Amino acid sequence: MINKAFLFVLFVLIFGSLSAQNQTIPCATNDYIKLLNQQNSGALKNIEDAFFDAKRYSSLKSKKEKDTIYTIQVVFHVVYNNTVQNLDDKYILSQLEELNACFRRKNADTIDTREIFLPVAADAGIEFELAKLDPFGNPTSGIVRKSSSLPTFGQFPINLSNADRVKEELYGSRVWDPDKYLNIWICDLSANGFDALLGYAYPPTNAENWNSNSFSTSNKQGVVVHYKVVGQDNPQSLSTGSKTLIHEVGHYLGLRHIWGDGSRNQGCNVDDFMDDTPNSRAATNGCNIGQNSCINNPGDLPDMIENYMDYSDGVCQNMFTEQQVEQMRSNLTLFRSGIATVRYPDPPVEPAKYTLIYPNPVVEDLTLTLSELDEEANYQIEITNLLGQTVFKSNLEPLSTQIISGLGALKGMYICKVLKQGKEILSEKIVFKL
Ligand SMILES: [Zn+2]
Repeated sequence: MINKAFLFVLFVLIFGSLSAQNQTIPCATNDYIKLLNQQNSGALKNIEDAFFDAKRYSSLKSKKEKDTIYTIQVVFHVVYNNTVQNLDDKYILSQLEELNACFRRKNADTIDTREIFLPVAADAGIEFELAKLDPFGNPTSGIVRKSSSLPTFGQFPINLSNADRVKEELYGSRVWDPDKYLNIWICDLSANGFDALLGYAYPPTNAENWNSNSFSTSNKQGVVVHYKVVGQDNPQSLSTGSKTLIHEVGHYLGLRHIWGDGSRNQGCNVDDFMDDTPNSRAATNGCNIGQNSCINNPGDLPDMIENYMDYSDGVCQNMFTEQQVEQMRSNLTLFRSGIATVRYPDPPVEPAKYTLIYPNPVVEDLTLTLSELDEEANYQIEITNLLGQTVFKSNLEPLSTQIISGLGALKGMYICKVLKQGKEILSEKIVFKL
């Protein structure tokens, strides 16, 4: 019996530890916050304060601010020890494309968002482009490549001080001004021959009530991702695949995991402070669509495994929620404004008030219809050739529909303009019968 019990314990020790060693950690952002707090006392409080500052700010934004499109300048640092790690540009470009699609809710798999979550699924209005100028003002492709003496930046158990060496000149690639660029480091995060870690991010800091400026000059801000999860068509891709970067940029812009990072025992009582992500007990693995780990009354909803801030497989992640979007945009405005340019949306196109010249091509006579005719105004028709020379000009009758004749000599393409009080209100190409 003793021998059997001993063997059993030995079995558990060996295989238990083996399976623990082979557990890929999708994201170590929370461990990273703990490390930052060890390195800079108060970092945790600073990050939490920043989170709630951004949350408060979300409710104060103007309509114009809500409609703004932000474009973030990105630099990728590819740090490699061999040619496999030195990812080809095509993977980086396809990853950038996916990042853009996911943050604008334009990715093809948004059709997989379940109907119950469609009312809160949102376009973040955030876009990403490769930096065109480096910190010295020189032209750049936005992709920096550095060879490293380190075969991997991963370690098991996870050691993020080791991983962070990817941001040091000696082993990796030095940060570009984090107040102007989103820095994304791509490197090997495997350890002991397995994919130990897929990524981690530096969350927003410098909350309003923070007195120290130790974070504003931080040389660590940005995102680190395992080279195997970069690119939509990366042949080495793992189950979370190229959605890892979407998740990490979500953290970088101030989002938490949707289950709130509680332990399994306290899970349903720990929130991510987003009202439109249903509470869930713990991270999701795989794509379990029926999972409902916490009952919320009223209006209980299943776990939102579609959310980028879960650990579900990449193929079932396809949405941010409205509140997550507001939180990211607030963080961008408050703490990372230097990395983005803003673009206000085009004003809505007013429906044309003066329309329709027909038939087009014209046979001989032209029928002109003016809707919303102002009877007090003077209208003219002017036809020019493609050199801009006037070939026909006449006053129009104050009628909404009229026939213009006497154009039989015209053949080929012209521009027909309608003027109201001498001001052009309509300009269309017309073709006279050849
Ligand atoms: Zn995460």
